[in-house]
Amino acid sequence: MSFNVRRCDECDVVFSTNSADKMCYRCKCEEEEARELWGITDDM
Ligand SMILES: [Zn+2]
Repeated sequence: MSFNVRRCDECDVVFSTNSADKMCYRCKCEEEEARELWGITDDM
């Protein structure tokens, strides 16, 4: 498995990922938490 080093769109931290993520793991978690908090769903 290979990892790419990327810079987070959100907090500018350098992180490694094996996918095409634009955000680091922390920002992704925070965004998901925010979505749940705001009750954002796809069927709005
Ligand atoms: Zn980040």
